[in-house]
Amino acid sequence: MNEQYIDRANQVIANTYKRFPLVIKRGRGCTLWDADNNEYTDFVAGIAVCNLGHASPEISRALRLQADKLYHVSNLYYTVPQIDLAEWLVARSFADRVFFCNSGSEANEAALKLARKTFFDKGEDQRWRVVAMDQSFHGRTFAALSATGQKKVREGFEPILEGFDFVPFNDMEKLEAAVTDKTCAVLMEPVQGEGGVRCADSGFLEEVRRLCDEKGIILIFDEIQTGIGRTGKLFAYEHFHVKPDVMTLAKALGNGLPIGAMLCTEAVSKAFTPGSHASTFGGTPVITAAAREVLKLIEEENILGHCREVGEYFKSQLLWLKDRYQEIEEVRGIGVMLGMKLSEKGAPIVEACMKKGFLINCTQENVLRFVPPLIITREEVDGLIQCLDEIFAERGESRTC
Ligand SMILES: *Cc1c(COP(=O)(O)O)cnc(C)c1O
Repeated sequence: MNEQYIDRANQVIANTYKRFPLVIKRGRGCTLWDADNNEYTDFVAGIAVCNLGHASPEISRALRLQADKLYHVSNLYYTVPQIDLAEWLVARSFADRVFFCNSGSEANEAALKLARKTFFDKGEDQRWRVVAMDQSFHGRTFAALSATGQKKVREGFEPILEGFDFVPFNDMEKLEAAVTDKTCAVLMEPVQGEGGVRCADSGFLEEVRRLCDEKGIILIFDEIQTGIGRTGKLFAYEHFHVKPDVMTLAKALGNGLPIGAMLCTEAVSKAFTPGSHASTFGGTPVITAAAREVLKLIEEENILGHCREVGEYFKSQLLWLKDRYQEIEEVRGIGVMLGMKLSEKGAPIVEACMKKGFLINCTQENVLRFVPPLIITREEVDGLIQCLDEIFAERGESRTC
């Protein structure tokens, strides 16, 4: 069955993804089934999206209830689920206001537009440059890819949007040197995701905050991957005791339904006035009702506590593997956003895991990335660790003979 579907897909779908030969038909919690009814434990979660697992009955119910009332009326009117969701986000973050959109890229577009407009409004219309980080990932739309510090994302699409300066992640000296009187914002992920699960060094974010305050520029945290509990706090910035002026969210906010959000302080939000920015589908009732349920569940079911606990256990088990196999160079990450850097390519390991019924992901070619649903259990973690142990042991044996 898998193959029949894949043949059809290859006739009609744009060739933008390198896909595994799997047609996923059904999911429940942390388990997925393909078209041939093979079972997989999911340590990808749609790339850090389905934090509450697949086919949550509560989220489905919230969707159904709202779908029976109203799908969409446009932002010409107010709708209640959108207000509820914005209130919840404002109550639990540094932010005072929320702009809703449909994806991470779009949330970053909104943040970048807001940063430029803030200084335009102050009469500083020469101040439109943004400092971003090497190895960052901010999305595939033009401004978002221009802000992305990875050549492979930008190549072929030049000229990209002007005004982005890049510095190495965790390098305060270079950052300080890159900020000029033309800089309006610093944009960064507190933990780089696509860049290989790399955490900000302790003290770095505090220094970045201090610099932004000193120069009067806007600090934007892209928490599209780190937000909504992934690191064991609702937002990763809470680990670092540093508040941004603007934060972008997407991925897990809808647990798989498309939603993005740009959150900001009252002061910064002033640059957006009626007509400045918009999105047809931004914050539609059905999606915001589902997202509200996601956030409610995260609180009611103590997902953050579980994430911290299972994340620590998971990391300790990955470190155990690191002690056993020299091709594992480093284990890093926080909460259930974990990476394992190898001295060799990760793709064969990903493939071997898939054959044994575990879905994992690889980024930057040699970093295995583990971002399962936050509801993953110790037993499921044990299953993956055993699977990886077998794979590394088999590879070691085949190398020595
Ligand atoms: C996934 C991701 C994006 C892009 O989100 P899309 O919804 O694919 O546009 C941006 N920033 C970070 C940190 C991400 O992980």
